[in-house]
Amino acid sequence: MAYVLVLNSGSSSIKFQLVNPENSATDDPLVSGLVEQIGEPGGAINVKVNGEKTREELEIPDHTFGLKRSLEIMSERGVGPTDVELVAVGHRVVHGGRLFSEPQLLNDQIISMIEDLIPLAPLHNPANLDGIRVAQQILPDIPHVAVFDTAFFNGMPPAAALYAINNEVASKYDVRRYGFHGTSHEFVSQQVPKLLDKDPMEVNQITLHLGNGASAAAIRGGHPIDTSMGLTPLAGLAMGTRSGDIDPGIIFHLVRQAGMSIDEIDKLLNRQSGVKGISGVNDFRQLRQMIEEEDADAWLAYNIYIHQLRRFIGSYMIALGRVDAITYTAGVGENDSEVRQDALYNLDMYGIKIDDERNESPNRDPREISAADSDIKVFVVPTNEELAIAQKAAHIADEAREAGLF
Ligand code: ADP
Repeated sequence: MAYVLVLNSGSSSIKFQLVNPENSATDDPLVSGLVEQIGEPGGAINVKVNGEKTREELEIPDHTFGLKRSLEIMSERGVGPTDVELVAVGHRVVHGGRLFSEPQLLNDQIISMIEDLIPLAPLHNPANLDGIRVAQQILPDIPHVAVFDTAFFNGMPPAAALYAINNEVASKYDVRRYGFHGTSHEFVSQQVPKLLDKDPMEVNQITLHLGNGASAAAIRGGHPIDTSMGLTPLAGLAMGTRSGDIDPGIIFHLVRQAGMSIDEIDKLLNRQSGVKGISGVNDFRQLRQMIEEEDADAWLAYNIYIHQLRRFIGSYMIALGRVDAITYTAGVGENDSEVRQDALYNLDMYGIKIDDERNESPNRDPREISAADSDIKVFVVPTNEELAIAQKAAHIADEAREAGLF
């Protein structure tokens, strides 16, 4: 059985999975793991093999050490890179700018292009590149593939992709809407035409990726025509800890009146805002608990979250003209039936009717939750970004082998 090692390297962490690209979205990977606190106190490597978890606490000076030790732990447990047929390493890369609309086989030229995009994602791309370099060093004979979080949205119509700001400044500094969570929106939206039994080219749909980060996309015939995230993943919906859309004037106000620095505002909007900024928690299970206990802040946070979601759904219905399906995915979208109900509540006049019993069903499979007479179908489709990366990486690796590169 062929496997792909999927790596998601952050500045102080590495998430990894060993995935069979033929899995379905709800199958567990053979291995999943997390290297925590690289270069900081409290380092640890968590590895789960066939559902069995281990945790090793140790100092992890850098990414090289963290990945090497993780692969050793996998080998000790009989699932190392030489124990299985490893066909590719798939790297999640956050920002592909305008350069990449497809996954890429990593070579020096592609790596240098990803370096060129660092100004657009100064925290994410360098960490992704660290992971790429380390993994290439440790596994030099395997094709390495970069899969970009922005790629799906490259090619959106200019009216949606460009901001109404000064043209010269925008083009000089590459200021435009890039969109994120593309791998998930693509993976989920590709399943919808099958559920509708329609030609993908004929399907107009809205996908709602509601995890800790959250984004919406409007997709016509397989191509996105709008999405809620922008130059960065801070834009759009209110999220777990991110503000989503705000008046940009708020930033000037905080600089001038509160004397806050750019870094402080960055932290405020990315980590101390959203649902957490209002209620104190970012996990929807805790938020729900607090709402049940009649906590006013939790209720307010929830209402802002839902209001923002309805705003985007409404505007995408107009942008698409005709909508065949609205699909929920990711942690909140897959699990929180009340969010699903409230975001589409009282829209019968627009042809949207949720079936309560279907919506409450704890099924894990892709499924319909709209009523039989709902004109617009509403679905829940589990996402699996690692599986999507594994599938893309395996495909590119096959092509590289056919071309005699490996
Ligand atoms: P990430 O964006 O980190 O990949 P996920 O898509 O896994 O996140 O979503 C994580 C979020 O999903 C959690 O913070 C929590 O709010 C929500 N979540 C997970 N399970 C449930 C559940 N059973 N009920 C409600 N919310 C849930």
